[in-house]
Amino acid sequence: MKILIIMAMREEAWPSIKGLSLKSKGLLNPIFDFELFEGTYQNASIFLVLNGKCKEFAIDHIGPQISTLSAHLGIEAIDPDIVINAGTAGGFKTDNAKISDVYLSYPYVCYHDRRINLPGFKEYGIGRYQCITSKTIANDLGLRTGVISTGSSLDYTQKDLEVIKSYNGVVKDMEAAAIAWVAQIHSKPFLAIKAITDIVDGDKPTEEEFLQNLKSASVTLSEKMDKVVEWIVLNGIDA
Ligand code: SAH
Repeated sequence: MKILIIMAMREEAWPSIKGLSLKSKGLLNPIFDFELFEGTYQNASIFLVLNGKCKEFAIDHIGPQISTLSAHLGIEAIDPDIVINAGTAGGFKTDNAKISDVYLSYPYVCYHDRRINLPGFKEYGIGRYQCITSKTIANDLGLRTGVISTGSSLDYTQKDLEVIKSYNGVVKDMEAAAIAWVAQIHSKPFLAIKAITDIVDGDKPTEEEFLQNLKSASVTLSEKMDKVVEWIVLNGIDA
């Protein structure tokens, strides 16, 4: 079995790279800054693609635009049995989310900021990309599940919140739907796993809360990633 994990920020990914004992294999592609890591878990091969640094702004590449590219090139190079997007995200007080809670995407992931009010295009904008049946994994490992909602911004507008609510979104991130779309085109099963760094409908400014909790949430994420990978290797993928 080949598992491909796609992650955006180095700080988010580092504990998982260490935890899964993955080794750097250099750049995935000469044009982009995507870095490939590789390792084994029992009889499975684990690959991780990190988006890398944007040369122009000297920060990590994040968001849906870059993630479609890293997902496509990663899937083409590896031909994995499953694509996993791991990272951090915002949670909601209304879903009783706590900092460092870990969610698995289920049953789909959507976009909240592609509003196109034309016949057919409205649904196209939202996306609704299917995830694997992660309920069993979540029950076995004590994780939460829910619809993950992706957009290009760390903050949100009132309209974003309305759209997220319309499909019962409980996790807000910037990559999952983009990667799920590419996985769907390649007919690859998809799962997102997200650790909560901030409470979207809470009282603290998102940037502050995110930076404050990034390190600890990434450590929790790596612990759960280990368990999810082990679960999938032992039980297979129930797409
Ligand atoms: N200012 C930060 C930028 C991080 S952006 C920095 O430079 O360190 C946030 C990243 O974490 C994205 O990759 C996104 O997927 C995730 N994320 C965490 N909380 C989020 C939220 N409330 N909304 C959207 N994305 C969030």
